[in-house]
Amino acid sequence: MQYYDQHLHTFLSFDSEETFEAYLDKDLPIFVATDHFDLQNPCSQFKDDIPNYDRLCQIHQDLTNKYPTKLLKGIELGVVPGQQAQIEAYLQTHPYDLHLLSIHQNGRFDYMDDIVLTMDKLKIAQMYFDQMELVLQTFKYGHILTHFEYGLRRLSFSAEELANHFETQLTRILKLVIQRQMGLELNAKSFGKYQNAPLYDYIIPLYQSLGGKLFTLGSDAHVADDYQLLFPEMAQLLAKHQVKQLALFENTEIQLVSLI
Ligand SMILES: [Zn+2]
Ligand SMILES: [Zn+2]
Repeated sequence: MQYYDQHLHTFLSFDSEETFEAYLDKDLPIFVATDHFDLQNPCSQFKDDIPNYDRLCQIHQDLTNKYPTKLLKGIELGVVPGQQAQIEAYLQTHPYDLHLLSIHQNGRFDYMDDIVLTMDKLKIAQMYFDQMELVLQTFKYGHILTHFEYGLRRLSFSAEELANHFETQLTRILKLVIQRQMGLELNAKSFGKYQNAPLYDYIIPLYQSLGGKLFTLGSDAHVADDYQLLFPEMAQLLAKHQVKQLALFENTEIQLVSLI
């Protein structure tokens, strides 16, 4: 089994126009769209962004006859404390094969909004990691913790600053990730657009030192041309840390495949 991209967006996300066909035309053995679910999303004037589940099922039904690709259902869950019960109830009646767990916003602003530039960067980072820790403690879904540095992207943190201020808390967070048998994602937007590869170079050995072994790569593509974006570069960083396998998640199954 070959590794496949486990972080992809289509027009079922509020911030993508991409079609399923554009991805499937790439002759993929397996395809999983992980569209955005964010309740009261500051990026959408506090509307609930929920990918249309009936539409997803219909699309899968239509495409099954046209492509040999195996289709899985995925979702990227942005979680704000206070929303856990509502999201869990939704997921009980809307089953998915793959749940990405993300922290994007705090009910007032998205951590990538300009407003964070006007605030104290340590306070913002603290707020962001507190939220991540609480969500990992209290929200039961999630196969993969995505882009762990999302909340730092506008704040230009060095690996050294991150270690100095947040290593104790990151250790607790990574222990929860390990306890829950979740994967730790290397995200292509973090590597390319936001130039945060040094933060991954720091967190990979920290996670390993605690026993963490489940790594995933995600392009976070919003257009099909970005499928597996920067995978060679991200795989190279993992190889530098002696990682030899990647993890694929499907329902209760975890499959380890060789590093691409
Ligand atoms: Zn995200
Ligand atoms: Zn995403």
